[in-house]
Amino acid sequence: MTEFLIYSKRCFLLDAFQEATIHIKNQKILDIKKGYHTSASIPFLDYQNLIVMPGIIDAHVHINEPGRESWEGFDTATKAAAVGGVTTLIEMPLNASPVTTNINALHQKLESSKNKLHVNCGFYGGTIPTNKNDIEGLINAGVFGIKGFLTPSGIDEFPNVTKLDLEAIAPVLKTHDIPLLLHCELTDTKVPEVTNAKSYQSYLNSRPQHWETNAIALALDLQKKFDIKVHIVHLSASKGIEPIKERLNETNKLTVETCPHYLFFNAETIPDESPIYKCAPPIRESANNDKLWDFLLDNGFSFLGSDHSPAPPERKQLESGDFFKAWGGISGLQFTLPILFSEGQKRGLQLEKLIPLITRKPSEFLGINQKKGTLAPGLDADITVWDDTQQFTISEASIEHKHKATPYLNHRVFGKVIHTFVNGVHVVENSKLKTLNQGKILLKDT
Ligand SMILES: [Zn+2]
Repeated sequence: MTEFLIYSKRCFLLDAFQEATIHIKNQKILDIKKGYHTSASIPFLDYQNLIVMPGIIDAHVHINEPGRESWEGFDTATKAAAVGGVTTLIEMPLNASPVTTNINALHQKLESSKNKLHVNCGFYGGTIPTNKNDIEGLINAGVFGIKGFLTPSGIDEFPNVTKLDLEAIAPVLKTHDIPLLLHCELTDTKVPEVTNAKSYQSYLNSRPQHWETNAIALALDLQKKFDIKVHIVHLSASKGIEPIKERLNETNKLTVETCPHYLFFNAETIPDESPIYKCAPPIRESANNDKLWDFLLDNGFSFLGSDHSPAPPERKQLESGDFFKAWGGISGLQFTLPILFSEGQKRGLQLEKLIPLITRKPSEFLGINQKKGTLAPGLDADITVWDDTQQFTISEASIEHKHKATPYLNHRVFGKVIHTFVNGVHVVENSKLKTLNQGKILLKDT
């Protein structure tokens, strides 16, 4: 079926819901007409009251292949994405092995993704102290940004960079107008001694807010000094909001994201001995997270991304319960929409605000908004259809990630993805995978 019509009373067009019929032909949206329009010769999919919106774009995903496919791989991650209504994801330069810090490693990653992409997939390159001369090659090969850490990443082959390292690559980022994505924690020793490695409070104390705010200050300085695009990934510390707000008033080259787990969980309700919740920066107290919500409702966040970063259960130390030995990373790619929608309902987040944060806005950040991120004629037919009235419990059986270990397990949520279309192909039908291998590799400016 290369040509068909999709009708709904609630199509999300130009950031508002409208009754419309979308005409899809040869992978793209050919036309959109207001109201109900059938055709004798074209198949017609009547979705009535279901929400029809642009496919979700998740600009922060760790897939780990090649090299650590026992953690997660392209096949399972992009199946989970499709079932979760994510039609495009951008993959981080770690935790694959080799890490994506030079063009050969990028080529190995592209090669290993072959015949395993069920949604569209693009890539970031990485900055480490020893690869300054590889950055331009990565950019020319089509990465969407360069990611760096200001604190140890947890992967030995991906050491953190310093301000001097970043200053050395800033001119090339400026020349190519490519964003620098920064993990903003700046480690120091002003932290309490760990007395109980199985206590969540001990883990939280070990990564204090000032690590984030010190790193954010460095990031803002760098942005201003070199006039480059800087993106702050996964903001968790609410004390970072004010300096970010000030700079957002001065420049359009600063962007900031947060992730569903910082908006859905609170430190107070995380039990001890449960490193399934471990991520860095950590999930903080509810009073902190309320401020992240205020910032979100105030249009502060540029977009939201999952930071899907899975690991095998043994790496998560689920048996020992040791937060300090456990891998830091939360698995949740498949559940971004229901998690944000369910919590958002309690917080007064309108869908008109939520949907752009996971569709149009990440697409603008990536510079792919002429192709993806909105429902408009000429754009790729990446479409997610979901039921905002349907409630379900996240069960192991429903999880398509390689590992079922996720803190979202057993949560009851609203908002079920029913259909997903990737490049005009019906990939998920009635919440089940239908057609595989429809994803394309996305390269910047191609
Ligand atoms: Zn990440």
